[in-house]
Amino acid sequence: MDKCSMKPHVLCIPHPAQGHINPMLKLAKLLHFKGFYVTFVHTEFNYNRLAKSDGRCFLPGSTDFRYEVISDGLPPTNPRGILDLPSLSLTLPVEGLRSFRELVKRLIISSDDGAPPLSCIVSDGVMSFTIEVARESGIPEMILFTPSGCGMLGYLQFERLMENHVIPLKDESCLSNGYLDTTIDWVAPMGKIRLWDLPTFIRTTNPDDIMLNYNLESINNTSKADGVILNTFDDLEHEVLEAIRTKFPNLYTIGPLPMLHQELSSSNLSSFKSNLWKEDTRCLDWLEGREPGSVVYVNFGSLIIMTSDQLNEFAWGLANSKYHFLWVIRPDLVDGGDEAISKAYLDEITDRGLLVEWCPQERVLAHPSVGVFLTHCGWNSTLESISGGVPIICWPFFAEQQTNCLYSCTEWGVGLEIDSDAKRGKVEGIVREMMEGETGKRMKESALRWRMRGLSAVRQGGSSYTNFVRLVECLKGGVS
Ligand code: UDP
Repeated sequence: MDKCSMKPHVLCIPHPAQGHINPMLKLAKLLHFKGFYVTFVHTEFNYNRLAKSDGRCFLPGSTDFRYEVISDGLPPTNPRGILDLPSLSLTLPVEGLRSFRELVKRLIISSDDGAPPLSCIVSDGVMSFTIEVARESGIPEMILFTPSGCGMLGYLQFERLMENHVIPLKDESCLSNGYLDTTIDWVAPMGKIRLWDLPTFIRTTNPDDIMLNYNLESINNTSKADGVILNTFDDLEHEVLEAIRTKFPNLYTIGPLPMLHQELSSSNLSSFKSNLWKEDTRCLDWLEGREPGSVVYVNFGSLIIMTSDQLNEFAWGLANSKYHFLWVIRPDLVDGGDEAISKAYLDEITDRGLLVEWCPQERVLAHPSVGVFLTHCGWNSTLESISGGVPIICWPFFAEQQTNCLYSCTEWGVGLEIDSDAKRGKVEGIVREMMEGETGKRMKESALRWRMRGLSAVRQGGSSYTNFVRLVECLKGGVS
């Protein structure tokens, strides 16, 4: 028997969005480092796209870290691909599941290419329909839930909100008449929390809303799993995690994953990534030439689509602040094109603004030149910012970004929120406040404190380190 065929074999399946692929890939690499044979599953649309965007995402020479592909059910002509979340939410549990079942059937049998038989599955929380296949095959399944603890606690309220007829909303006027400021008080330890601060999938009048039901179903399926893994750390979300543990006692908090990965992983896989957009590393050289703490970094993640008016307001707010800024504008960020980025605008910012389409965000946030991060509060971005000791300006857009914003501003003291209808004057003002005001200084100090606490969590003996060791033992033993 060769070395490979004796290893435990884990299959890791993320949801096909960047913010889900990244933490799952980090976990997969950590498990590989701990001696697992890894099968990492992409969906067809992404697999084809990855080949174009980043040569380093495939490892032809690797014998114990393999990629497999399942169908996402999207017609090849769907121009929006992974940005079309409602379509994916309909096709993945049908086409994706069918294709996943075939894959698992193949992997549980010892193959002649040296792969050991599949022994466990780690599935994304919003791919938790896969639990059906795990059960049929007698293989244990753990769920990696990629949002924050506070976001997860928000999703856990959906059922009760429906039972209490708070959602679906009675009519469209509830979206604009202040109804979302209504508070609920049953979510310990959140105290009184506004509907506004809960994951935005509740903002619907339709009981059959695809995203509402998909998220409800996902969290329900999660409770059937053998354990739940969260990319957070105990110190950061202590009370929230206690509340989650009452429902999911087998909880493994192993974040911040970027920090744990840096602490533990020294394998040959550590540098390879799965970027769906082509990474532009010029910005790292550009940052090298700037003073410490002098740059505003702006990035709204991988899924947001904004209007050209919104882009225009941010563009001129940043330009008028006169600070140096690095702004990531994905080619598909703006609905209807980014004409706000005109030649005149580029001339105006030429000596102080750099625009790129996709950047190595973790390295940017770890760079000493970055003073503040203007972000949509996606959980990875929030945690990566805390890991870099960088305070944030919050412009939450959808999903649990609202909840992350609330916690960043009120619990962790690292963020200041800007109106959803952010006008250029407000953008300029908040950038100044964060870069040179007292509030900014306080938030920088908090961010640095949380960074240190995160580091303690991932070091030997820390909570995330210990939980990861426990997780590895559990997965090696086939869970129970
Ligand atoms: N990201 C990156 N470069 C970019 C934009 C994003 O590497 O230019 C990464 C970022 O580091 C994070 C992920 O993409 O790991 C985005 O996840 P997040 O949860 O912040 O937001 P989402 O894209 O899911 O809204």
